[in-house]
Amino acid sequence: AKASGKAQMALYSDALQRDAHHRLEMENALTDALSRDQFEIHYQPIVEVAASRSRVVGVEALLRWRRGDRLVPPDEFISVLEETGAIVEVGEWVLREACRQVLLWHANGHKKLRCSVNLSSRQLQESGFADVVARVLAETGFPATSLVLEITESLLMQDGPETLATLRELENSGVRIALDDFGTGFSSLGYLHRYPLHIIKVDKSFITKAAGDERLKAISRAIIGLGRGLRMDIIAEGIETPEQMEFLHTEGCQFVQGYWFGRPQPAGLIKPLLDSMLDP
Ligand code: C2E
Ligand code: CA
Ligand code: CA
Ligand code: CA
Repeated sequence: AKASGKAQMALYSDALQRDAHHRLEMENALTDALSRDQFEIHYQPIVEVAASRSRVVGVEALLRWRRGDRLVPPDEFISVLEETGAIVEVGEWVLREACRQVLLWHANGHKKLRCSVNLSSRQLQESGFADVVARVLAETGFPATSLVLEITESLLMQDGPETLATLRELENSGVRIALDDFGTGFSSLGYLHRYPLHIIKVDKSFITKAAGDERLKAISRAIIGLGRGLRMDIIAEGIETPEQMEFLHTEGCQFVQGYWFGRPQPAGLIKPLLDSMLDP
């Protein structure tokens, strides 16, 4: 038993070493990913639900990393960028790139299309982040009122003293703030009161399970009511079926996002979908 225990320890530390090696390798590869133009942005439509005709009112920018012939999803590398601090630079690139792209769509008949960009806590903690946003808006000519910045509850949990001031500054410039993944982690209703937030994004885990679950339905309903009472927009995430769509429509949820309407795709592929939803 002792010998096999030892053997197991050895296996375990092998695995740890492999993990550490893998991570180091990833860190190295990520260092010059930006300068080598390996990042790309996919866009997922955000749809306003209407009885007669739904239409795309915005897109969410989602980062991808082209590594060789593999397209690496953000869950695999964002945390590494956050640890090295590179997320600050990459995040600014995403913001600028997304604004440039959506501005092109503005010029092509989608005048009011909103652009949603995800923020990491590292970015908000940088002093002068509101100035960075202002500079990108000025440089690209993108209207502040069409920009949405998405932050998570965990970001607010570990906020520094400047976070509130920065969010207020952004709000004053016309930018809107969305609270992402609402209801997953350490939701505190206090956040809705304390911070200038304009949009709640109901996490997809609620939507996915709500269909057959009365209690989850009640929770979704309550969140939608809460948003209405606070005059915030509600976006339900992760809509994959017509049944989920029907439920949310019945409950008065105004905006949705999910595979049912469109997966995140490169700009060129999302354009036909945008056009198909143009007002006639
Ligand atoms: P998120 O902000 O919650 O983004 C929504 C995620 O749900 C996306 O995953 C999207 O592809 C996925 N999704 C959308 N509709 C459906 C659906 O109907 N069903 C299912 N199962 N999934 C759906 P993705 O693109 O892999 O991004 C994962 C996370 O990575 C994002 O979660 C966000 O937290 C982070 N992320 C992505 N881009 C950026 C970025 O530029 N900066 C930062 N800081 N984080 C980013
Ligand atoms: Ca998001
Ligand atoms: Ca989310
Ligand atoms: Ca998330």
